[in-house]
Amino acid sequence: MNREKESIRSLEPYVTNPTVCSVKLDANEGNSELYLDLLKNLANSDITLNYYPDDSYTDLKKAINAYVGYEPKNITVGNGSSELLDLCIKTFVDKDETILSLDPTFSMYSIYAQVFSAKYIGAKAEDDFVLNVDSIIEEIKESDPKLVILCNPNNPTGTLLTKDEVRKIVKSTDALIALDEAYMEFSDESLIDEVMEYDNLLIVKTLSKAFSLAGIRAGYIVANEGLITSIEKVRAPYNLNSLSAYIATKALEQKERMYDYIKDVKEQREVIYNALVDLNVKTYKSGANFVFFKSDIEDLQKKLVEKDVLIRKFSGKLDGYYRISIGTKEQNQKFLEAFKSIM
Ligand code: PMP
Repeated sequence: MNREKESIRSLEPYVTNPTVCSVKLDANEGNSELYLDLLKNLANSDITLNYYPDDSYTDLKKAINAYVGYEPKNITVGNGSSELLDLCIKTFVDKDETILSLDPTFSMYSIYAQVFSAKYIGAKAEDDFVLNVDSIIEEIKESDPKLVILCNPNNPTGTLLTKDEVRKIVKSTDALIALDEAYMEFSDESLIDEVMEYDNLLIVKTLSKAFSLAGIRAGYIVANEGLITSIEKVRAPYNLNSLSAYIATKALEQKERMYDYIKDVKEQREVIYNALVDLNVKTYKSGANFVFFKSDIEDLQKKLVEKDVLIRKFSGKLDGYYRISIGTKEQNQKFLEAFKSIM
């Protein structure tokens, strides 16, 4: 007997790759050392384990305020931006209403949409994954979505829309725009400074990428008070645990380290991009902490795993495409050496 609700019966679970390699460049995670010392701070903190967390997340919101400049009434925190994206759909989209995003983009958007029986449309990119803002606006007009999810820079292609392009989309519609800026620290086209100017814009952020804290699962949304109040109605109490909230707070208080780290990533991104281009590999300019490329080498991922390097392989419509996260200089060199020897 299948007890699953109708909407999830055709759903395939999001599969993470369990392969263990010493050079792990498959999931856009950051640097293992960046905030490692905060683990030690935990022991000396005044966290209580018997009490629930402060559900207002006062300290964390203060640290977010110092980073992005907004008041607690304009912030919701969550268990990774994954939870927050899910919350946006739960809060704003009813059954059979439409969610429009990009194609290709982060695959979880369509999974969340399906769970809530929403219709999902992916606005097709042009050749070479170029995003045409006018055709995105046209698709929004035609499909009249309740929610538009824009990933900027886009995962997995790395494509970056400029501020002007995103503004144009936001202003073209009354639909709510969830702007996922998970990777924006690696570029300079954030709309965060002007998010309050729009009543239909919310920005979703994570500490998993530039802050290199994917393990603690911390993210936040910044938006006008009305949108935040709606999301707060749906958010489960204590959704972010005390230990994660504490580490996220301390990391945000030491954001200079993150700024140094993104400088390294941007440099290394150029190194990898140029090296792949020199090898005649079709490689895409990226605004994120990864580089997307196409390769005809058969079983490339498997061959790299044999050399102890793990990268992300895509399938289906993106068969033959790969994404390598930017690692340390040493990790990136190991990838390039392995890649060259396979070629
Ligand atoms: N948005 C994008 C575009 C992502 O690529 C990811 C993770 N890979 C997420 C959101 C979710 O990140 P997290 O839940 O770790 O914040």
